[in-house]
Amino acid sequence: MKNDKYGRFTSHSEPGPGDGGRTGSWRVVRPIIDLAKCIPVKSNKMACFTCWLYCPDNVITRTIPPTIDYEYCKGCEICAEECPADAITMVEEAEFVKKEK
Ligand code: SF4
Ligand code: SF4
Repeated sequence: MKNDKYGRFTSHSEPGPGDGGRTGSWRVVRPIIDLAKCIPVKSNKMACFTCWLYCPDNVITRTIPPTIDYEYCKGCEICAEECPADAITMVEEAEFVKKEK
């Protein structure tokens, strides 16, 4: 319990990157950002970052360009669902396994 920025007494916790633990190898799909469609990259402004806001694991950076920490990303697809520019595509992990072989 602590005071929030408005002075209200509140129960509030901040998520930290990877609070859900390392993902390991069980993620089925991986989010890939198309930078050509990404709003902050296109505008070179600190705009949008809806993906950063909604990611439950806090693994997307609020930077230009935004980046995703795949060590902790769970592949939940929320970022792809919420991106207003349709810039995030979920790609099967099997595609990356094939490339890495
Ligand atoms: S939500 Fe989409 S457009 Fe907005 S910063 Fe994320 S990837 Fe870029
Ligand atoms: S798929 Fe889920 S965990 Fe991974 S970056 Fe997107 S919102 Fe975050």
